[in-house]
Amino acid sequence: MQQSIQPFIKNLVLIGGGHSHVIALKMFAMNAFPGVRITLITNCGDTPYSGMLPGHIAGFYTRSQCHIDLRKLASFAQAQLYVDSVTGIDLENNRVICANRPDVGFDLLSIDIGSTPATISVPGATKYAIPAKPVGNLLQNWYDLVEKIKANPREAVNIGIVGGGAGGVELALSMQGNLKKYDSNLEIHLFGRDNQLMPNANSLLGNLLRDILIERGVKLHLGETVCKVALKEDIGAKNVICESGLQVECNHIFWVTQASAPKWLESTGIVTDERGFILVNDNLQSLSHPQVFAAGDIATMENYPRPKAGVFAVRQGKPLFENLRRSLLGKALRKYVPQKDYLSLIGTGDGKALATRGWLTLPPSKLLWNWKDSIDGQFMKQFRDLPEMGKNSLIPNSSLLTPNSMNCSGCGSKVGGNVLEKVLTRVKESLLTEGEDIVIGLDSTDDAAVVKVPTGKVMVQTIDYFTSLINDPYIFAQIAVNHCLSDIFAMGAIPTSVLALATIPYGKSSIVEETLFQLLSGAVKQLNQARVSLIGGHTIQGSKLAFGLSCNGLGDEKQLLRKGGMQENDVLILTKALGTGVLFAGEMRFQVKGSWIDNAVKSMLLSNQAAAECFLEFGATACTDITGFGLVGHLSEMVKASKIGVELQLSKIPILDGAREISAKGIFSSLYPDNLQASSYITNNKDFEFNGNYPLLFDPQTSGGLLASVSGKKADGCLKKLKELGYEEAEIIGSVGGEGIKLV
Ligand SMILES: Cc1cc2nc3c(=O)[nH]c(=O)nc-3n(C[C@H](O)[C@H](O)[C@H](O)COP(=O)(O)OP(=O)(O)OC[C@H]3O[C@@H](n4cnc5c(N)ncnc54)[C@H](O)[C@@H]3O)c2cc1C
Repeated sequence: MQQSIQPFIKNLVLIGGGHSHVIALKMFAMNAFPGVRITLITNCGDTPYSGMLPGHIAGFYTRSQCHIDLRKLASFAQAQLYVDSVTGIDLENNRVICANRPDVGFDLLSIDIGSTPATISVPGATKYAIPAKPVGNLLQNWYDLVEKIKANPREAVNIGIVGGGAGGVELALSMQGNLKKYDSNLEIHLFGRDNQLMPNANSLLGNLLRDILIERGVKLHLGETVCKVALKEDIGAKNVICESGLQVECNHIFWVTQASAPKWLESTGIVTDERGFILVNDNLQSLSHPQVFAAGDIATMENYPRPKAGVFAVRQGKPLFENLRRSLLGKALRKYVPQKDYLSLIGTGDGKALATRGWLTLPPSKLLWNWKDSIDGQFMKQFRDLPEMGKNSLIPNSSLLTPNSMNCSGCGSKVGGNVLEKVLTRVKESLLTEGEDIVIGLDSTDDAAVVKVPTGKVMVQTIDYFTSLINDPYIFAQIAVNHCLSDIFAMGAIPTSVLALATIPYGKSSIVEETLFQLLSGAVKQLNQARVSLIGGHTIQGSKLAFGLSCNGLGDEKQLLRKGGMQENDVLILTKALGTGVLFAGEMRFQVKGSWIDNAVKSMLLSNQAAAECFLEFGATACTDITGFGLVGHLSEMVKASKIGVELQLSKIPILDGAREISAKGIFSSLYPDNLQASSYITNNKDFEFNGNYPLLFDPQTSGGLLASVSGKKADGCLKKLKELGYEEAEIIGSVGGEGIKLV
């Protein structure tokens, strides 16, 4: 989480984790810039490096070798990471519109979202062809095709690749190079509008590639303009139809035609070229909106138009960083002149590569492939091997801060009333109307909220509050709400109202407002889902984002689920996997894969509400939620209160992906040593100390699962229902009986 005792003065938002942005982010990481809050909005957690993509399809690299982990990089740059698709930009109010979250404000915006192949104008292409971008979709289709061929190599497979440029040629060579080993009944057809392959390059290269493709059995259809893709209903295959009348039957069609820009850019009012790409000046700055920069495929440099290729996007990273930095500081921008020619090393999918620059072309060789492999490997290394937090010497090379950027304490640290009112007005639009138990709530100006307790009910209260473990206030608030309400659910009660407590990082009021808006929007989303009213709260500024709730719930005194009700022959059911503590400890040290964190976040976003209802339905005898003290810490409280022991099946305990790997490296949450004290409750701990799951028993959980004891007779039905409710990781992890906690 980006944290600072110094206030944020400027809000820099980057859209898309393309090649230019990953380089700019790395440079922001290595040149700390106090006062600037950076937010990366990306529609994927990892972004492909185009230079190695064909090599991945050819089978030389794994998926992770050719992808940059954006979560890890953003963490390293202390940037916020919002995973969502941008669908528009309001350039009058400087707000980015996203598909699934509140819009995001900015002072300075940079766009590096790449391009997609133009398919719109060809009937049937959008429906029946697989575009080369987004790459995630291309790869999924490719993996499925490979699996299909592996399973049934004799089945005829006709691949059609539409596009005779660099992308189409590389795809054809890579696919052929990979699939030849399956001895399959395979045909690859490559369609190109021009008579020459890669028409923008020299004819020597085009002819050389033509000869290689023919020799490798790829059927070339050059000088053919594909005008339609149609389904042949009778045989389920598709026909690629060309203007000349040529029709070729293909059951998998990949579309790698000229790059095009997303439609939504048109509605932003930003000035573009005739193909819809953002026109930028020599500073990579929009011609129409100086607060917007753009780089990579999505940008066209007015004075230096270049082909849409990854190599240009990579080169623009450094000048983009420099001009974003200068723009933030109010300094004069620096002109950038891209080179005209560049050395291109093209993999031929068979462990060789050819080289071309200008009029010079070198034929394919293993030596050239080794050279390309080494260049690409070096490029990726800079994003993979990141130094641990505190070990990277962040050198503040500039700062927006002035001596007046001081923060006050006491009541002076409160968020200004004006800011709070503005945010509350915005979030109130989506807030559920307050329940009938609320006498005085958020709508009133009174000093405190007033809540009725209906006759026959008891009020169940709990409070929790903690600093953010993730660099997205909208997601963090949803996790925090789940975590805080979880105590009420564990008691078998129904939450009705909450008071919120928030600490917002210091900043100028517009940035504080933006963070508070994202935070409260996330909280309201989750509270609405639980049908709980927000009736008040308190907000201050501090060095770290933090959030918590004081929760009120109602229950029937006799039906409350307590820790002390476990019965002999009950079984223990845990609803979520363990490991959030070690994973986030690993994240701080850049030791985790982004996908592990994505998975942990998914688990933390799962509310315990439905699980609690399920446990009540199946007559659970005791229940608790697994949070800060870890599984054994909370279980030992159940054992003490119930005055009966348990047997835990260590191998049955669900563990989040990556948690075992991180704990095996000796990386744990700072609370772990304290939690480990609870090992004294385990009667045979010495026998299991070296088991990979053992340390996770003491791992503190954020928004962890519920642990309940249920009669052995009802356990299978209860577990089945939990799985149906979405608790995929739920497991029976042990049984009740004996003394203390015994591991088996
Ligand atoms: C099969 C194939 C092979 C290629 N091989 C090469 C090669 O060997 N060498 C070469 O130089 N070029 C190659 N290219 C071209 C190269 O892929 C592009 O030129 C390059 O990726 C452009 O980089 P970029 O930074 O502009 O965008 P990208 O690399 O496309 O990155 C854009 C990022 O923004 C994200 N994004 C997109 N839209 C949104 C949105 N609305 N909201 C949030 N995030 C968004 C994307 O998910 C992606 O992470 C190849 C292209 C293809 C299709």
